[in-house]
Amino acid sequence: MKLDVNALRYLSKDDFRVLTAVEMGMRNHEIVPAELVDRIAGLKHGGTYKVLKNLLKHKLVHHDSSKYDGFRLTYLGYDFLAIKTLVNRGVFSAVGRQIGVGKESDIFEVAAEDGTVLVMKLHRLGRVSFRAVKSKRDYLSHRSSYNWLYLSRLAALKEFAFMKALGEHEFPVPTAIDCNRHCVVMSLIQGYPLVQVKQLQNPDDVFETIIGLIVRLAEHGLIHCDFNEFNIMIDDNEKITMIDFPQMVSVSHRNAKMYFDRDIECVFKFFRKRFNLSYEEEREHDEGSVSNSGEDGGRLNFSSIEKSAGFLDKELAASGFTRKDQDDIQKYIEGEKEDGGDDDEDEDEDDSENGDDDKDGDEDEASDNEPIGVQISSLKMSDQPEERPSSNTA
Ligand code: ADP
Ligand code: MG
Repeated sequence: MKLDVNALRYLSKDDFRVLTAVEMGMRNHEIVPAELVDRIAGLKHGGTYKVLKNLLKHKLVHHDSSKYDGFRLTYLGYDFLAIKTLVNRGVFSAVGRQIGVGKESDIFEVAAEDGTVLVMKLHRLGRVSFRAVKSKRDYLSHRSSYNWLYLSRLAALKEFAFMKALGEHEFPVPTAIDCNRHCVVMSLIQGYPLVQVKQLQNPDDVFETIIGLIVRLAEHGLIHCDFNEFNIMIDDNEKITMIDFPQMVSVSHRNAKMYFDRDIECVFKFFRKRFNLSYEEEREHDEGSVSNSGEDGGRLNFSSIEKSAGFLDKELAASGFTRKDQDDIQKYIEGEKEDGGDDDEDEDEDDSENGDDDKDGDEDEASDNEPIGVQISSLKMSDQPEERPSSNTA
């Protein structure tokens, strides 16, 4: 995903007004008719149409005439709206290099006015095209708001809410700074993903710490569900930080045990292989106060833990992340797992990112994975007051 933030500087107030109008139209239109964009934007003398052309040129919107003539936001358009909002709020003022590319996120360094470097994670849930998603899954077909905007925004909100709540409970996570649309801003962790580390001074301690974390999470009613060497950061002092929370579930989830065991197993496997540790799997049961000797031969006692399942609920709700949000995103994640992450669909979205026309020039997939070379550059966008008409898009 290219993110040429330079274009941001050349966008006028009217450009953003129209871009926001397209976003608002997408709350109940998959493709927003130009007349509707015009009505929402309310520019004089047919100004909307001229602006739409400009947005199209910068690939911030996509023109679609398959069903009727209209427009929709591209990822880039959505990125710009989120970035602009966060810049206007004073969260950061410049976007730097890309430090991570996931299947469902792009991660950049950003810089605050005082020079502090932070991390911006742009969620790309449903990188699959809306059409593909919609036709494939029942639960989506009932609700037009189930599109990638909605899903990505939900993933970001979930990540932000969990990061904040976990931080407040003194879990080692990045500091959650702000969140808008599909974008989460957090502190930069000075360290490396564990997967890049070939040697440790104290592999036993690190191992114990990590297993202890999984157990403590469960005591707080939570399972990470993707607790592996890619989502564990470690610094030069071998201090651990965990990242990446959109897939977390409650211990009351019907598959909680399986997810918990899988997280544990992942860590065991990695340490066995990478650091030649010969732990017996039983060791996990000695951990903490949650172990028991029940029918699972000492696995985590979920029935006693379930009582604490709602422990973080209040904090999560405080960040605006509701039970319903949780259910919605969980349905998506589980649907996604069943599909086994179909790559063909990704190409679909590539096509649709091509803003020129809907006759899709096959954009090369490779370019999406290249780090962009934007230097940290001053990105003063405007002196306008912040417009936030659509903080609850879709
Ligand atoms: P994904 O959902 O795509 O896996 P992650 O949150 O795991 O996204 O981040 C992907 C990569 O980006 C991480 O492996 C790490 O290298 C880097 N990263 C993410 N968050 C931070 C952070 N707060 N500080 C430093 N690096 C980070
Ligand atoms: Mg990750």
